[in-house]
Amino acid sequence: MGSASLIEKAHAVCVPFPAQGHMNPMLKVAKLLHSHGFHITFVLTEFNHRRLVLSSGQEAVKGLSDFQFQTIPDGLPFSEEDATQDIPTLCDSTSMNCLPHFRRLLAELNEESINNNSRPPVSCIVSDGAMSFTLDVARELGIPEVLFWTTSACGYLAYNYYRHLIDRGLIPLKDIGNVSDGFLDAKVDWIPGLMKDMRLKDFPTFIRTVDANDIMLNFVVQEMSQASQASAIILNTFEDLEQSAIIALEKILPPIYSIGPLTLLNRNEISNESPTATITASLWKKDDFYLEWLNSHHDPCSIVYVNFGSITVMTNEQLLEFAWGLANSGYHFLWVIRPDLVKGESSVLPLEFIEETKERGLMVSWCAQEEVLMHPTVSVFLTHSGWNSTIESISFGVPMICWPFFAEQQTNCRYSCVEWGVGLEIDNNVKRKEVEELIREMMTGEQKGKEIRNKAMEWKESAIKAIDPDGASQINLERMINEVLRN
Ligand code: UDP
Repeated sequence: MGSASLIEKAHAVCVPFPAQGHMNPMLKVAKLLHSHGFHITFVLTEFNHRRLVLSSGQEAVKGLSDFQFQTIPDGLPFSEEDATQDIPTLCDSTSMNCLPHFRRLLAELNEESINNNSRPPVSCIVSDGAMSFTLDVARELGIPEVLFWTTSACGYLAYNYYRHLIDRGLIPLKDIGNVSDGFLDAKVDWIPGLMKDMRLKDFPTFIRTVDANDIMLNFVVQEMSQASQASAIILNTFEDLEQSAIIALEKILPPIYSIGPLTLLNRNEISNESPTATITASLWKKDDFYLEWLNSHHDPCSIVYVNFGSITVMTNEQLLEFAWGLANSGYHFLWVIRPDLVKGESSVLPLEFIEETKERGLMVSWCAQEEVLMHPTVSVFLTHSGWNSTIESISFGVPMICWPFFAEQQTNCRYSCVEWGVGLEIDNNVKRKEVEELIREMMTGEQKGKEIRNKAMEWKESAIKAIDPDGASQINLERMINEVLRN
């Protein structure tokens, strides 16, 4: 290819926040841009890149000439044993350390483009909203930058109102007892675009602090204020699902483009033959045999799928309540138990449980979740309500039993259960009886359960419509590329 055409080509630098739930959707955006003719540089922080290579081999880093991986230091020490993402540490470390390294990387990429003619100069940045230091570099280079918030629109809107909660004296909490004394039950019905049944306890959990200097509280406020400098913001949601929140965000922020569900858009646009189809960025090595196990079942909608994502941790007592709830429900189940799921120790499941469920339960340490959720035998998802898990479940019409852990998972749970009607919530103080009853209701309940199962199918249809050639998300993707990234 001659140099003139290379210079005309677009080159997007994609910068995910270094956690699984951020890397997955950013990789999907990168693949979509690649399929629209962009050169891609996908930037990982060293901490995550080392984990990636350790866990999923070279698959993710085998280079294509127009899709490359690069790393920047993040200042974090590396420990093979402790792979759990400590989010405050990651936020603190990336915001303190990454900017000069990112600036240097882009200068090198541009220099290389002039010297070698091998790829076009960097023409735009697509960065995670929680990596807003990248905005400085976009401004210095005079190129557009799109911020990708990998949250739900409702969760993102709730984060945007942290500043107002502080100004009204609601947070930081006066005393940590507020968390248990009913203070968090207070309705918050004055935020345009949020559901009227929103309570303080449905806000992303970083409000649950008494410390005005709390790292996460301040990080959120800081990152929200940065968003006004972006050329545009993208969200992994679709307009029918979150219309009110999206409209409210449009009134206070740069242009918003809802381009989800990315899981469906990718499936539509990236064929198996595409050179990017095999690129994955998983921080854990997936087990192999669960698909075979799922395929060995012939009854549709007969399996409960349990997965708490990449960050949730629980006590061994909570693990046992889930275990016995699953066992006592009598249903078949696939349960993903990450090696670091249980706090401070490795998970210990009693022999009686293993013995009792050996014919109908499979426990693995990591899976390709989308393959599981789209499997016809999977009927219910017991989830921590992370946004990726929620939107993936909605995409494949699987109703959810929600046990939110932290961040905006509480918001996603509230919306899933009340606004969208696709979920039932488990009490934070989980008990086996409740797990058993909710599973039964979801699997075969003739009233509430049936309503929820039907609603899940309706939202699936609506999600599929959004990614049709003339669907809102598909159109928004094209618009975002033409109006912002190629502009
Ligand atoms: N995931 C996966 N296999 C697993 C667990 C999770 O592929 O065993 C993926 C899942 O499909 C989702 C992401 O990891 O895309 C988790 O993101 P989410 O926002 O749901 O939760 P987080 O891990 O950030 O708490």
